[in-house]
Amino acid sequence: MQPENRPIAFLDLAAQQKRLGSALRQRIDTVLEHCRFVMGPEVQELEERLAAYAGVEHCVGVSSGTDALQIVMMAEGIGRGDAVFLPAFTYTATAEVPLVLGATPVFVDVDPLTFQIDPVSLKQRIADVRQAGKLTPRAIVGVDLFGQPAPWAELRAIAEAEGLFLLDDCAQSFGGSYDGRKLGGEAVATTLSFFPSKPLGGYGDGGAILTNDAERAELYRSLRTHGEGKTRYQVLRTGMNGRLDTLQAAVLLAKLDYFEDELARRDAIACMYDAGLSGHVVTPARVPVSSSAWAVYAILLKDSEERQAVQERLKAAGVPSAIYYPLPLHWQPAYRDHHDGKALPVSEDLSTRILALPIHPELLDTEVQRVIAALRG
Ligand SMILES: *Cc1c(COP(=O)(O)O)cnc(C)c1O
Repeated sequence: MQPENRPIAFLDLAAQQKRLGSALRQRIDTVLEHCRFVMGPEVQELEERLAAYAGVEHCVGVSSGTDALQIVMMAEGIGRGDAVFLPAFTYTATAEVPLVLGATPVFVDVDPLTFQIDPVSLKQRIADVRQAGKLTPRAIVGVDLFGQPAPWAELRAIAEAEGLFLLDDCAQSFGGSYDGRKLGGEAVATTLSFFPSKPLGGYGDGGAILTNDAERAELYRSLRTHGEGKTRYQVLRTGMNGRLDTLQAAVLLAKLDYFEDELARRDAIACMYDAGLSGHVVTPARVPVSSSAWAVYAILLKDSEERQAVQERLKAAGVPSAIYYPLPLHWQPAYRDHHDGKALPVSEDLSTRILALPIHPELLDTEVQRVIAALRG
């Protein structure tokens, strides 16, 4: 096949592995030698590295981004009768966890330009819940969507005024920054995911919780290991098996050395897309005084027909694309019965015409230009 038609990868983990080379193998070999597969020394080493990177006091490595959310909500005692406010335009895990704990997710609309949770809609939704009088408002989950930060200053002000716990679901955006600071310390607790397609991805499931609160950090450590106390067979509370594997920590330690370079490469690709596509499609709005980890580069088309036509044109040119998210969460079968029926027009509209283009550190300049050319048609 001619190189100009060779299919472009949406995510190229094999090429990434080649680039990481012996550093990665060495890290894995060390674990194979010491055989401490559960809570081995790499877990603590990674926790220290991640806390330092994000500029926070504590990091607790856990089994996934979903379990990170669950541990944080368990620590707050969130459960039956509680309302947890979260964006309707996000990955399912954000909404699933409150339901698993018996609480109710209350869906909030997002901003049409940045796609992040909309503070005006958030205030309205909190008022809706207070007025209905059935649920107790307990927590706000700000999601840093697609690599960019949520509007943290506004979210903190609302959380404080309303007396609500504030959590940052940063699964997609570790490495991004807000107001000049790396994400990780904007809320009381921040949760990360190391699913392979996230900006800092492992080779399996993994996650972490960041916080500046020593008491909460200790609680998270206890909850991740069956609610244990100072000794293994002292059970203080109902917990879970939520530990991060040593092998995943080893992989992540090897990858962390290349993380800043990867973020810079993602940003360079985003800038090439911006330059080549603005004026043709709606390119992603930047959140002021922030940087994106560019988990997703999403454009907006006019409507679903145009999106379908563009997707087909890209496909014919060997360019993959993806739809995040084809349905707002309040319309998903699993969640719609928990929704109060309020319209969330921006989330509903975005899901009909948003489209994600390939963006990963292995993407070549020539491939980026091919994507641009195929899109411009
Ligand atoms: C990926 C993701 C999660 C869940 O992370 P896992 O590690 O896959 O459990 C949670 N929230 C958001 C916004 C995500 O994108």
